[in-house]
Amino acid sequence: MSIRVLPDVLISQIAAGEVVERPASALKEMLENSLDAGATEIQVELEQGGIKRIRVSDNGSGIPRDELVLALTRHATSKIASLADLEQVASLGFRGEALASIAAIARVQLVSRGAGDAHAWAIQAEGGRLEASSPAARGQGTTIDIQDLFFNTPARRKFLKTEATEYAHCAETVRRLALAHPQVAFTLAHNGRTQLRLGTESAVARVRHVLGDAFETNAIAVEAAAGPLRVSGWVVRPAAATASRDGQHIFVNGRYVRDKLIVHALKEAYRDVLHHQLNPAYCLFVELPPEAVDVNVHPAKTEIRFRDGRGVHQFLFHAVERMLAAPVTADSGPAAV
Ligand code: ADP
Ligand code: MG
Repeated sequence: MSIRVLPDVLISQIAAGEVVERPASALKEMLENSLDAGATEIQVELEQGGIKRIRVSDNGSGIPRDELVLALTRHATSKIASLADLEQVASLGFRGEALASIAAIARVQLVSRGAGDAHAWAIQAEGGRLEASSPAARGQGTTIDIQDLFFNTPARRKFLKTEATEYAHCAETVRRLALAHPQVAFTLAHNGRTQLRLGTESAVARVRHVLGDAFETNAIAVEAAAGPLRVSGWVVRPAAATASRDGQHIFVNGRYVRDKLIVHALKEAYRDVLHHQLNPAYCLFVELPPEAVDVNVHPAKTEIRFRDGRGVHQFLFHAVERMLAAPVTADSGPAAV
């Protein structure tokens, strides 16, 4: 075969392989878009674990009619315009490829109304083919309806697990983002039934509602700063650690991340007080200047790189170790923060 330039839709389908592994990854991208749009209320409706349908509605800024097509276009974004912007990026999204990727491997309807619009506009895409926009009804904000994920990529569809498993991943995605955004109200429904309803609340109340009373009862508050580097959140008492790693929630600048360096710093902090086969649960929010962390490591954006990894490691290690060594007082739990 001779060398050829691939059609746009195929390029998006290939990109989708990295961004959209399963319904939960599509949901994550849509939730991040709603948060980036400044939404204070987000509704998620799923059918069949998100395989049949993922519907996300928000009351964010909306998308003006003349940008609807761009929203579904690859490498089109309203979030950065230059390399300098990328290095300073504060939004959760910036790659401009999630919607285009999803539109290439699903049936998508985007309904949106910007602040200046007299009414909403809707646009459809199926397997990457766009249809013209038409008037629609809704208040300010955006609804994105993703149906039949992977309908045209059978190889991908085969990797989907059961409806229950895919739903569990979706629910976890909502809970995680909800943890980092207590000022935003979330509802989650599955197959027509409400599963989660969170109103606007304090960080403490959100942690209690999302992670449960057991976490709260065993939590020790962590709060430390070193210049612009800050950490806040909760770690559990060593006695409450379990074999599971599921309870480890790390956020960097509001973004849920899986970061080996931070996990390692925490493991070290617990080393003297915990059997090495047990894992502490924690929910930690790390803040640092955007230019001190590279979020553009992988399309799914859950991996990051710190400019000064060693500094971050030491800082977190000491912040947590100090709290674990401190005598536990009645007011050191979340309720005190
Ligand atoms: P990115 O988030 O990286 O910019 P996406 O493909 O996820 O790329 O979205 C493309 C663009 O569509 C965004 O830059 C934004 O302008 C617009 N957009 C997507 N979802 C929403 C939403 N819920 N509310 C407002 N604008 C949105
Ligand atoms: Mg996005």
